[in-house]
Amino acid sequence: MARIFCVANQKGGVGKTTTCVNLAAALHQAGQRTLLVDLDPQGNATMGSGVDKRGLQQSVYHLLVGLAALGEAKVVSPTGGYDVLPANRDLAGAEVELVDLDQREKRLRNALKEHDADYDFVLIDCPPSLSMLTLNGLCAAHGVIIPMQCEYFALEGLSDLVNTIKKVHANLNRDLKIIGLLRVMFDPRVTLQQQVSAQLEDHFGDKVFSAIVPRNVRLAEAPSHGMPGVVFDRASKGAQSYMAFAAEMIERVKTL
Ligand code: ADP
Ligand code: MG
Repeated sequence: MARIFCVANQKGGVGKTTTCVNLAAALHQAGQRTLLVDLDPQGNATMGSGVDKRGLQQSVYHLLVGLAALGEAKVVSPTGGYDVLPANRDLAGAEVELVDLDQREKRLRNALKEHDADYDFVLIDCPPSLSMLTLNGLCAAHGVIIPMQCEYFALEGLSDLVNTIKKVHANLNRDLKIIGLLRVMFDPRVTLQQQVSAQLEDHFGDKVFSAIVPRNVRLAEAPSHGMPGVVFDRASKGAQSYMAFAAEMIERVKTL
């Protein structure tokens, strides 16, 4: 049975895509059958997986509006080895088109259900908004992984997302829960980051993952080579942290 996780945070630039791509690659390296779903019209997870978003015949857009099946739209990441359901600008139009369709929040969920036996992990890279696309991600998922930077306003920004997750849980998807908070772009030399990190642990307990992703330039360089960081420079501190995170996820799904 596929375990489906949304990587979500309504803020942009917090490391959602970096987390999705590197977790997918690290899970694949650990022998897990993995699908990455790019739900962001920017297509960053697609490009970061080494798939050219400009040349796509079919994409997640076609799947959502009923023009393609998963088997037709997915491609293999040439650098990461996992499957990718890619996205590009076409997806921006889905928002409007979905309004008129049946079960508009559940299109992705229904499509993934047919492939439940084909994957161990499905990771959904959400756009930085609480839109119909994110809603499709949340309706399809068993859990949410929330990457966050340990900054002063981090906790405040979290409340909108937590409220949305509660509403989706109550009305659309009883399976949905917060799997955990992942500290990313962490710089231990900054006292404030240490303080916020400690606050997160106090407040959320074991919902905070033990793995911590440091600020690491190799992770930022990897996408321009169309590679996940864990492939681009395996030995880097950033790559090592995502491999540790993948091992933690493999353990955590056993308890779900
Ligand atoms: P989001 O998907 O939430 O918008 P991204 O994953 O695209 O965020 O990250 C935003 C920017 O920060 C990108 O340029 C990315 O390469 C960079 N970045 C992400 N994580 C790290 C990290 N741990 N260390 C350094 N740079 C990072
Ligand atoms: Mg992104």
